[in-house]
Amino acid sequence: MKVAVIGAGWAGCAAAWALKSQGHAPTVFESARHIGGRARRIYSPKLQRELDNGQHILLGAYTQTLGLLRELGLDESTRLHRQELDIVAAQGDFRLRNRALPAPWHLLAGLLSAQGIGWRQKLKLARFCRWLETQRWRAPDGLTVLQLLDRHGQDADLIRLFWQPLCVAAMNTPIEQACAQLFAHVLRDSLGGPRQASQPLIPLTDLGRLWCEPALHELDVHLGHRVQSLQLTKDGVDVDSQPFDAAILACPPPQARRLLSTLPSTAHSEQLLADLDAMQYVPIATLYLDLNQPWNLPHPMLMLHDVTGSAGQWLFDHSALKPDGRETLLAIVVSDAIRLQALPREQAIAAIVEQIRSQTQRFGPMPTVRNTELIIEKRATFAAVPGLRRPSVTTAWPALRLAGDWTNTGYPGVLEGAVRSGLQAAHSLGTTT
Ligand SMILES: Cc1cc2nc3c(=O)[nH]c(=O)nc-3n(C[C@H](O)[C@H](O)[C@H](O)COP(=O)(O)OP(=O)(O)OC[C@H]3O[C@@H](n4cnc5c(N)ncnc54)[C@H](O)[C@@H]3O)c2cc1C
Repeated sequence: MKVAVIGAGWAGCAAAWALKSQGHAPTVFESARHIGGRARRIYSPKLQRELDNGQHILLGAYTQTLGLLRELGLDESTRLHRQELDIVAAQGDFRLRNRALPAPWHLLAGLLSAQGIGWRQKLKLARFCRWLETQRWRAPDGLTVLQLLDRHGQDADLIRLFWQPLCVAAMNTPIEQACAQLFAHVLRDSLGGPRQASQPLIPLTDLGRLWCEPALHELDVHLGHRVQSLQLTKDGVDVDSQPFDAAILACPPPQARRLLSTLPSTAHSEQLLADLDAMQYVPIATLYLDLNQPWNLPHPMLMLHDVTGSAGQWLFDHSALKPDGRETLLAIVVSDAIRLQALPREQAIAAIVEQIRSQTQRFGPMPTVRNTELIIEKRATFAAVPGLRRPSVTTAWPALRLAGDWTNTGYPGVLEGAVRSGLQAAHSLGTTT
């Protein structure tokens, strides 16, 4: 079967790999000159080195992504730094870490020993998690995360110290707007899963080499080819006038919409286009700091307090990830970066550098910053708000599938959602032929 995969982000790469594994012949079209989409390697002329377009982390719960690495014969331990869940505030006023015990004791023991919150708050947290579990991780329809937390007695400090940073990191949507049901799914598959599921995995290689480039190796890949037209035929679909048995649209919603809008209109297509139009997007910023010497912080990942709404939320020290400790790179992540985006760049950078200095004083002075690179991805993810209608991978057109983090994955806009949708799209084609 000849299948066109339109877009070589993580969804498209997963789809192409799965199609090849099933014995089909995928042809990948990617409009950019590189693969990876929103999770890709870039070159920074300012820092004169390769970076990612944004600091990413994976979770142990990303089972299908990790499964892909295994299928590709890629060694997880050299590509990803896996650690116990350990949420440490840089300022030292909060810490929650899982203990090396079987589930659910890992979490319970972690909760009981959490620093920075009192016994009452620990109890409230534990009760809320238990309630979610008894509800099979289903939240009432239409609620935001903040509304759900309020209903379950999570007080202002608990929200500020724990829930708010967790929500914005997982959903890239502010807590007062984020969909409670999607957040519950994230909690189910991470905190509610086996101990390994909640472990963060920080990439040790760039995002291209992590698995996408090996997956597309030896496949028919057309970089710099922006697909312009789809035409349904009696045998399948023509993609820019080339005949295929089927096509997987693994491009973001606006581009998928543009391609789909050229097909004959039906009730299904009208609804689909309206659903794609309704999606809103939220930026994520990553500030890279190149230091004049490695810092060697005791934790590769530290939580920052963001009091202005435009400051850093997580700090990654790459020297703490390298065995020789000689790396000089820091990455600071700002999810929901709408406010930061509105600031003059130099002002935003200076404010974050000052934030890092003031919140990390207990680790000694930060080495001198040699150079900076601020990357703002304007449409990093869709806004994961309640009531969003997300299309399924299959469509009313037998020869067309959709794939991407924005399809109905049950997750917010994350890597694992992209991968799952790509695999599902490929497998559904495999089973219909
Ligand atoms: C800065 C940042 C940080 C993030 N951090 C995390 C994180 O820590 N953990 C996490 O799980 N997720 C994170 N995410 C989200 C994650 O990156 C995305 O969920 C994932 O990359 C989406 O992959 P995708 O394949 O669905 O879409 P995309 O990556 O957008 O891929 C779509 C591809 O289609 C191509 N395309 C578009 N139109 C056409 C056309 N007409 N013809 C051919 N090609 C076309 C595009 O160029 C693109 O390469 C982050 C995102 C960003 C931007």
